[in-house]
Amino acid sequence: MALKPDLDVVITGAGPAGALLASYLGQEGFDIGLIDVARKEDFWNQLKHTLVEPKTLKLLGLDINEEELYNIKEISIKDAKGKELSVIETNLVILDGLDLSKHIVNLLEDSNVRVIDKHLAMKLDISSNGVFGVGLRGKRVNKLTARITVDATGAQATLRKQLRNLYEDAIIDEDDLVYTYVEEFLRQKEISDNRLHVFIGSDIAPGAYAWYHSISDRLVRLGIGIQLGRGFELRLQERTKLLKGILFLEGKNVSTEARYLVTRRPLTSLVYSGFVLVGQSAGQGNPIVGGGIAGCINAAIIAAKNIRKALETAREEIVPIEDLWPYNVEYLSSYGKYSAILDVIRIFAQGMGDAELYTFTSKIPKKLSMDLGHLAELSFSNLDFVLRPRFFWKAFDAFRLAERVDALYGNYPRTPEEFKEWHHREVSLFNELKNKVWAKKKEIY
Ligand SMILES: Cc1cc2nc3c(=O)[nH]c(=O)nc-3n(C[C@H](O)[C@H](O)[C@H](O)COP(=O)(O)OP(=O)(O)OC[C@H]3O[C@@H](n4cnc5c(N)ncnc54)[C@H](O)[C@@H]3O)c2cc1C
Repeated sequence: MALKPDLDVVITGAGPAGALLASYLGQEGFDIGLIDVARKEDFWNQLKHTLVEPKTLKLLGLDINEEELYNIKEISIKDAKGKELSVIETNLVILDGLDLSKHIVNLLEDSNVRVIDKHLAMKLDISSNGVFGVGLRGKRVNKLTARITVDATGAQATLRKQLRNLYEDAIIDEDDLVYTYVEEFLRQKEISDNRLHVFIGSDIAPGAYAWYHSISDRLVRLGIGIQLGRGFELRLQERTKLLKGILFLEGKNVSTEARYLVTRRPLTSLVYSGFVLVGQSAGQGNPIVGGGIAGCINAAIIAAKNIRKALETAREEIVPIEDLWPYNVEYLSSYGKYSAILDVIRIFAQGMGDAELYTFTSKIPKKLSMDLGHLAELSFSNLDFVLRPRFFWKAFDAFRLAERVDALYGNYPRTPEEFKEWHHREVSLFNELKNKVWAKKKEIY
């Protein structure tokens, strides 16, 4: 390689995953560049408000007293007509996007990260040794080279998709994506409501769910998600109107947003030579499979630790895949494994008709730990309750597949050479599951 790279690591995307990864590595003294298309003042303010577990405040290093935040104490799960099916105790708090924004900008400044805002990451520079930086569109910089390039661009995964011919699992199936529409509005009357209301059922949110919760006594956040790639009609605004009608909710609209959400387990490899994925670009920040912002922070912590080691040990300018592989091993045999088991439940649930879904949901206990392992165990024990004969066999198939997924991830390949075969087995397991539990979807919906 003739040219010396501009940076140790260039990170594209300053969401929770990319910005935290940048600040961790910057604090260690590495030369880090962070690119985002948004203005610096708008980082993390895309979702105007965010619901998190209080422990996330600590993970973020946010000095906010939990008691001062609006909180959610219960999750009420309802059918498409608004009838309550179950209530789960919880403890969640609401964070303001503006506070998050200020916090992350301060963290980045303290870590000496070179922030290049208002620039779009465009095309990866791919050589025979791997990825060597990225081309940018913006007024100040048009290209940056680095020993490692990180795609933290969220569900869009702009850079990952460019590697589709070079590594397995670079493309996410459409049916593993949900399209979400969120709006915030001011209610006419003040109401104190400490519940998160979740709606399931094909009339409102086929393949996903709708929800609403208060942000303050006047402000409400309402969202609807619909699974893509299964032939469901989107009609999100109409569905939102329907939901508001059921709830007698009306008010002045403050903000609206539509976004994709990756709902599958994380990708089966998070690295390529000179290239790393972190956050929703790898399916690590998925609120359905135990993620969201907290999932991204955990991923950023593991990625930072392994990137640091790889930068120190690799002699080549482009860090080879072998040196980055420990990130795969550490992440995928822990969080990856649990998320994959929960993904079996997600796919299974997406194959249920409304009647089965409602029966299944009504069996959820009031005290439900959000710990991934516990959640998986509990969901599967619930399957026993769904005893319609046609359905029983589907549940049985899902059980057996979850056991195989558990064993497969327990044996995650220790080297890149063993990956191809392992990956094919993983893909065929999940395809088998989809074929089994979604096969009769037309009959069900
Ligand atoms: C509707 C909705 C509601 C949610 N609510 C919650 C919640 O309440 N609590 C929770 O914990 N999680 C929630 N999540 C999930 C949470 O938003 C994600 O897990 C998290 O934001 C993912 O972080 P990320 O850093 O991977 O990606 P993102 O947050 O998506 O950040 C990606 C960044 O990359 C930038 N970018 C994209 N493409 C480019 C490019 N080509 N060049 C330069 N920059 C680029 C974007 O501007 C953005 O700043 C929600 C998600 C959705 C869709």
